[in-house]
Amino acid sequence: MEMEKPYVIGIDMGGTNTAFGIVDTRGNVIVKGSIKTDNLDIDDYISQLRTECGKLIDSVGGIDKIKGIGAGCPNGNYYTGNIEYAPNLPWKGIVPFAKMLSEAFGLPTAITNDANAAAVGEMTYGVARGMKNFIMITLGTGVGSGIVIDGKIVYGHDGFAGELGHVNIMRNGRMCGCGRLGCLEAYTSATGVARSAHEILDMSETPSSLRNIPVETITSKDVYDAAMAGDEVAKEIFNYTGKLLGEAFSDFVAFSAPEAIVLFGGLAKAGDLILKPIVENMEKNLLTVWKGKVKVLFSTLKDADAAVLGASALAWEL
Ligand SMILES: [Zn+2]
Repeated sequence: MEMEKPYVIGIDMGGTNTAFGIVDTRGNVIVKGSIKTDNLDIDDYISQLRTECGKLIDSVGGIDKIKGIGAGCPNGNYYTGNIEYAPNLPWKGIVPFAKMLSEAFGLPTAITNDANAAAVGEMTYGVARGMKNFIMITLGTGVGSGIVIDGKIVYGHDGFAGELGHVNIMRNGRMCGCGRLGCLEAYTSATGVARSAHEILDMSETPSSLRNIPVETITSKDVYDAAMAGDEVAKEIFNYTGKLLGEAFSDFVAFSAPEAIVLFGGLAKAGDLILKPIVENMEKNLLTVWKGKVKVLFSTLKDADAAVLGASALAWEL
């Protein structure tokens, strides 16, 4: 890292909002901002991003202080720099996003998907610092993953590797957002947890504070709040979610022998409620050679900054 260029820009693009910040070598987000993602055509979006980031750039001493830009984008492809067929963005088809950013800023730019960005962030600034082999699992609206082998993110032959949210855990199971049946994401994303709540409440008569909420509107946050207050049904929902995650993790371990699986996102906030069933069921299903050897850890990156940090970390390698 050259001292003359002590900063990088991290951009975290979501379907609704885009957050960005300028990050130093130690992983401090020095200044940050955000713009809306939706309702903008791509040229207007880029120009707004340039204007708003420009103010931050000026505040840290100008563009000469910036090494490059890293962006985490839905369906962002590291190899091509394109965003390809992202279902939740206003721009359809293939968007040459890295090229557009690079031209607008005059800086080298790398993009990847959000989960890979989170893995790079964790490896650069977080709990996976120093680890050469780990798997990042992001538990949010969807379930994403970033696989690190020998210190490198696995991108695969086309840049899309690591879609562990869409491994099949239940033949002919629930419909997933990807159009297939039985994906891990359909069970362990925020909406997946809400669907489990729906099913588990339906199957029993056990009293639960969740029964006071119209069943169609129950969210994973409601389940979390109820579980934290000691609600037995809510705890059962977490046990079920953790069991499915733990079983899936035992398969993931068989693929790349990670030293740890790192969890990030809303569900990770449930602490032991989710960790205990995960570890128990992972251990139960692991091949003997890996029993007791693979850690399950929570991300240590600050929530609000994690995605921006993760994306920014890509830019150090440019
Ligand atoms: Zn799927």
